[in-house]
Amino acid sequence: MTHDMTHEMTYGTATGCEEAARPERDRDREWGRGRRTAPPGRSVLISGASVAGPALAYWLGRYGFRPTVVELAPALRGGGFAVDFRGTAQLTVLARMGVLDDIRAHSTGGGEPLTFIDGQGRPLAVMPPEFSGGEVEILRSELSRILHRHSLTPPGAHPIPGSPPGGPATPEYLFGDSVSSLTETADGVHVTFERGAPRTFDLVIGADGLHSTVRRLAFGPEKDFVRHLGYYVAAWDLPEDAADLGARPVGYGEPGRLATVGRTPRRSGERGYAGEAFCVFASEEELIPGRRDPRARKQAIARAYEGAGWRTPELIATLGQAGDVYFDSISRADVPRWSTGRIALLGDAAHGATVGGMGTGSAIIGAYVLAGELALAEGDHHTAFDRYERTLRPYVTRCQQGGRGAGEFLAPATREALDARNAALNSPAAVAAMLQQGQDLSAALTLDDYPAQVAAAVRARW
Ligand SMILES: Cc1cc2nc3c(=O)[nH]c(=O)nc-3n(C[C@H](O)[C@H](O)[C@H](O)COP(=O)(O)OP(=O)(O)OC[C@H]3O[C@@H](n4cnc5c(N)ncnc54)[C@H](O)[C@@H]3O)c2cc1C
Repeated sequence: MTHDMTHEMTYGTATGCEEAARPERDRDREWGRGRRTAPPGRSVLISGASVAGPALAYWLGRYGFRPTVVELAPALRGGGFAVDFRGTAQLTVLARMGVLDDIRAHSTGGGEPLTFIDGQGRPLAVMPPEFSGGEVEILRSELSRILHRHSLTPPGAHPIPGSPPGGPATPEYLFGDSVSSLTETADGVHVTFERGAPRTFDLVIGADGLHSTVRRLAFGPEKDFVRHLGYYVAAWDLPEDAADLGARPVGYGEPGRLATVGRTPRRSGERGYAGEAFCVFASEEELIPGRRDPRARKQAIARAYEGAGWRTPELIATLGQAGDVYFDSISRADVPRWSTGRIALLGDAAHGATVGGMGTGSAIIGAYVLAGELALAEGDHHTAFDRYERTLRPYVTRCQQGGRGAGEFLAPATREALDARNAALNSPAAVAAMLQQGQDLSAALTLDDYPAQVAAAVRARW
């Protein structure tokens, strides 16, 4: 049974939230006054174990919360694309987590230059590797494994000095399950699962991506929050016999469509690169009616490239043999408020932008801020959620603007816009200015040193 929370409580009015939450908050305040510390071991359910979920579990475990992470997939998801980090803020948070060295050790070694070509294969412009690879590039699946592993590292290995009594907690992971209903009560959020037995948690965090289930259940239907930005992205691995297509990364562009033959780092444990098709095309139509129908998805991609020049027909023909095809609209999540009562959103669920929106780095920073604010708020999750959103929203809003820009940059809609994009790439000054944007964004974000603040707060209390 899907129990829609919006029918359960009056959201959006202060009265509804305040009344329902009062007993727990009073209890928390009393605890705070009498013992001068946060209530120990609050339980937090996190939906999603990709990037945001394990990062939040890492911090919450170390701050003395009891995190449980539920992931729809039967194990950490493999496969997928490379993601990157850029800017001081993102790298600082990774360093504070103690995962930066591990990420560098498993990085792809950087993105690769992509040469834009004409119909005869002649080079027109080169997109430098930093555009796609940032400062550190890693497969999303590899990153997920690292974050998961660190979140499970016995907390004693990296304790927050002065951790509260009860101490740090090791997160619990539940794979192959999903939240099916959320009902907020005075004492917590009662959660039913598709498979597991119902449980009650103090807080619930939706870190389950752009098509978030927690957001749908607690905030409303996806159509209210996710906006199609007029482009689609498709990616699939090329078969071994298409080796000459994938010999060097090239992108053939026509107005409104780009067909790229790239190279993706091989999966963990394998050396070298594998050929990959990466396509971006403009369309305002709804092209993904059946998300689970692989044949219809391939047909939709093929239709978008009918009549295209260069070796695009050969590239599209490889779709026939492709196993796992990634295909989604370039969309953006705009959620006016990231929390309701005891439930909050994190990462792509709150502010995803598909590609070009620095979603991975934002998810990592978001987890750091959310956990830090919860730890400092002495049980007052309303204050923590507000402070988390106030700190992060200006940064991610600017990051998200890159999402719309990504489609327009990769597959400009007109011949003039294509030529202008190529001219910009051929200008070292324009390239430097574009790369500087990530640094500027970072500089505009002031991050508190939460681990130090939490340690100081705990020491002061005891
Ligand atoms: C083609 C492509 C290229 C990209 N390149 C970059 C890049 O270069 N740099 C960059 O910063 N970002 C990039 N991104 C974006 C980046 O992947 C996301 O911003 C980032 O993964 C967000 O992390 P997340 O944990 O919030 O969500 P996701 O990574 O989307 O993870 C959501 C998790 O929730 C799980 N889940 C879904 N539904 C449920 C449910 N009902 N119950 C439980 N679990 C559920 C999913 O299985 C998944 O594990 C790219 C995205 C795409 C599509």
